Amino acid sequence: MQQQPLGSDQFRPLYHLLSALSRSSSLKEVVDTGLTSLIEAMSADGAAIYLDDAAGRIALHAAKSAPQSWLTWACAENPYTFGQTLAGPISKAAGTTTAAPDGLTSAMFLPLELDHGVFGQCVLFFRRPAPGDQDSATGLAMAVSAHLALAVEHQRAEMARRRVDQRLEAILENSTAVIFIKDQDGRYVLANRKFETLFGFSPEKVAGLTDHDIFPRELADALRENDLTVLQEGRSISVEETVPDDRGGQTYLSIKFPLFDNDGSVTAVCGIATDITERKQLEIAQGRLAAIVADSTDAVISKDLNGIVTSWNAAAERLFGYTAEEMVGNPIAVLSPPDRPDEMPSILRKIQNGERLSAFRTQRRRKDGTLAEISLSVSPLRDSNGRIIGASKIARDISREKAVEREREDLLEREQRARKTAELLNSIAPVLAKELDEEKLVQAATDIATQLIGAEFGAFFRNVTGKDGENLLLYTLSGVDKKAFEGFPMPRATKLFGPIFRGEPPIRSGDIRKDLRHAQNPPYNGTPQGHLPVRSYLAVPVVTRQGESLGGLLFAHSETDKFTEAHETVISGIAAQTANAMDNARLFEQARQAQADLERSNEELRRANRDLELFAYSASHDLREPMRTIALSAQLIERDPTSPLTPRSAGFLQNILGATTRMNTLVDDLLSYMKASRPEEGTPPSVNAETVLMGVLEALGAAIRESGATVTHGPLPSAVAIHESRLAQVFQNLIGNGVKYRGAVAPVIEITCEEETPGWYTFSVTDNGVGIEPQYAERIFELFKRLHSRERYPGSGIGLPISRRVIEQYGGRLWLQYSLPGAGSTFCFTVPKQPEQ
Ligand code: ADP
Repeated sequence: MQQQPLGSDQFRPLYHLLSALSRSSSLKEVVDTGLTSLIEAMSADGAAIYLDDAAGRIALHAAKSAPQSWLTWACAENPYTFGQTLAGPISKAAGTTTAAPDGLTSAMFLPLELDHGVFGQCVLFFRRPAPGDQDSATGLAMAVSAHLALAVEHQRAEMARRRVDQRLEAILENSTAVIFIKDQDGRYVLANRKFETLFGFSPEKVAGLTDHDIFPRELADALRENDLTVLQEGRSISVEETVPDDRGGQTYLSIKFPLFDNDGSVTAVCGIATDITERKQLEIAQGRLAAIVADSTDAVISKDLNGIVTSWNAAAERLFGYTAEEMVGNPIAVLSPPDRPDEMPSILRKIQNGERLSAFRTQRRRKDGTLAEISLSVSPLRDSNGRIIGASKIARDISREKAVEREREDLLEREQRARKTAELLNSIAPVLAKELDEEKLVQAATDIATQLIGAEFGAFFRNVTGKDGENLLLYTLSGVDKKAFEGFPMPRATKLFGPIFRGEPPIRSGDIRKDLRHAQNPPYNGTPQGHLPVRSYLAVPVVTRQGESLGGLLFAHSETDKFTEAHETVISGIAAQTANAMDNARLFEQARQAQADLERSNEELRRANRDLELFAYSASHDLREPMRTIALSAQLIERDPTSPLTPRSAGFLQNILGATTRMNTLVDDLLSYMKASRPEEGTPPSVNAETVLMGVLEALGAAIRESGATVTHGPLPSAVAIHESRLAQVFQNLIGNGVKYRGAVAPVIEITCEEETPGWYTFSVTDNGVGIEPQYAERIFELFKRLHSRERYPGSGIGLPISRRVIEQYGGRLWLQYSLPGAGSTFCFTVPKQPEQ
């Protein structure tokens, strides 16, 4: 193939192109110039450049003077493949393979090819047939397209490089890391914006400075040393470098790596330093937190939203018995106690909704199956986006607290129960105490007790001693009709009942049918047929304070386990009160009986006294008459002149006369005694004892004078409650006796008075007479009893009995206080004090 030589004119477009290309600074300019040069060189009607994209498809890049239909046609007719080498120009006539677009006759395709093969094409459009391959113009076009290919590629590479530069610059500008390059001498070649913000040196200012110009020496030395490692060893290192600042220092993780020049020698160090201060602090905080969690006495656990354990501290190990190894990665549900299967899922649901749980008291199952009492706090765990990813739980062992709490509640309950029991018993006590009718009292006790403990029926069985020994008698019944028991024999002293009626401790049975003590008793071996159904049973003895067993209170219920220890306590209290009340009722009954007996005998005594008095009066009067007759008759006989008496008869007659006189005296004495026995009419007046004594001494004046007696007295009360004549009678008898029963010396008599017991005066009359043998101290107060002969001391033995009767009429006493034969006597008596007005 021989090409036609090119004329100098023909080179012009090539010159133009080359000079334009050397000037053009953009791809667009290069392409424009290229297209213009080609059209000119080939006298074409239009031209276009197509470039391959990265995927090898061609696309129109630029066109000149070519309508769209030509361009589309040319694209479809592209004869080259991407990357193809040694491609040549190809002319094509329009309309050969596809329909020819309007006005286009032919086209010439020129490859844009470099070392790496075809990367695009130039197309020249002709309204006439295109020049052939061998045409000299074609050679020129090839030369143009070759230059164009070079220029396009150069421009594209330039653009790519610029893009990279721009991107790098943007990265440097916007990086949050500090990026710098230092040369072998440690001078900054480049530093980014972050460097400026942190250390105050702009990229322009920092150029040429070393670390020693910027940082304190020590730090600069350390930085330089790291740089030298990179430079000398030609490898990258990763170091933590701390740069001091006013916040206490920033820590950087610096990646330092060598930069090589074309011959592979290290020329600079590039560093990318990331501020890891926060991360460091976070790490420290996390470390602290981890230490706290590890040392915590509370179990600290975390789990994910599926309930799988993600962390488990030592306290959790201690509390639940599972090790972290056993738990982490496994479901927390193993801790769920059997009686609350829904609790954990419900806690998880709450956590998913972002709720928290604090100090929630619950139970969890330990590894050994026992239950732990815990106080649980659960909070959601979130990731850095705030999304809930799990839960952290703190569980505190409150088993001991719970136990203490339970104990406290128990104590409180027991105390309240005891107080209630005491209150109850206190309220029952007056009800029982005021009832003195034993049957009513026991009925009340049975009723109250039955109601209080909710028994279906209650009964009181009384211990009765009959002909055939100890028996039990159904005394009262509450809750059912007595008829319900009519058909049954009385409970006997069986193994079950016996102890109660002997006063032994209460018997309480939750189910009497299963109770051996009961079932043992033949012939019924349990409850007799037709008996009210009994399952719960409580029997309590009723024993007096003196230990006498009065009977037993029995309660029953047709359901099991109806009676508690508290019921037993209450019933025991009621039983004790019932026993007391029964005792009281019995004492009251006895006292009533004794009172009635006393009243009856008093009445009998009064009647007998009245009869005796009547008899004595009538006897005295009736006796006087015959005695007077006897005395008169005797006197008549004595003085009868017609029949003088023999001396012997006269003596007898004197005896008769003496006896009648004595008899008269006796009758008089008897009457005075009767009189003294009869109480004086009306309330006693107020009497001055001294005045009364003066009157008595005056009456006794002759006897006193005749015996040479001395009578003295101490202070005497001015107001004693006794009739004057009666006090005078007593004084006269006692002082008279003192004068009468005198010894060898003249009588000395002393009267004193003292208020020895409140409201009573005790008078004493002391003489220095013959005295009385101690064994007669009481006899002398008997009627007509005398210790001396009438010849020696006249008297009839009635003075002392009368005096005692008189004093007794006023409620006082009279007695011989002291006496010894030959040493005198002291008589005392008490008289009531006149109450003050
Ligand atoms: P009477 O003096 O009339 O015999 P009383 O009843 O006054 O009767 O006394 C009873 C007896 O008590 C007297 O007989 C006497 O033996 C004795 N008696 C009474 N008073 C005294 C006295 N002061 N000293 C010694 N004996 C007395």
